[in-house]
Amino acid sequence: MPEAGIAVTLQSRMYETKAWGVVNQPDFINMCVEVGTRLTPDELLEALQGIEAQAGRHRSYKWGPREIDLDIIFCGELVINGERLKIPHPYAHLRRFVLEPLAEIAPDFLHPLLGESIERLLHRDVNPPLLLIG
Ligand code: ADP
Ligand code: MG
Repeated sequence: MPEAGIAVTLQSRMYETKAWGVVNQPDFINMCVEVGTRLTPDELLEALQGIEAQAGRHRSYKWGPREIDLDIIFCGELVINGERLKIPHPYAHLRRFVLEPLAEIAPDFLHPLLGESIERLLHRDVNPPLLLIG
């Protein structure tokens, strides 16, 4: 992604995940990356949406199957509660498919609103374990 002004600095392994929210659909593959960028959060969201479009994302129904979904989970301590962009991602702490890969790259990071580490949030989480494929 260097052309987008985004440099990946850390990446988790990949996990195969049962669909969340809407369950009757194919499994997902999830991973988390840490990136460095000079883009603002809004610009970063726009860049990620550009990459999604380039990767051939077709919008289906909410939480339905998709070729790719790039979400911003955290941006340091920053809290944004906009119409288009919410950081921290509002569901991150509830989703094992986010917490488990995230715990690989940032176990001690504190959720800026909950004050709990990723590791603690993961152990509090009740979703079933994931299948590691990467
Ligand atoms: P999903 O909730 O499954 O990721 P989409 O990828 O279709 O669904 O995103 C829907 C909208 O969520 C986007 O158009 C974007 O404006 C908004 N959004 C709000 N906060 C975030 C975030 N932290 N990361 C990515 N998208 C976000
Ligand atoms: Mg998304």
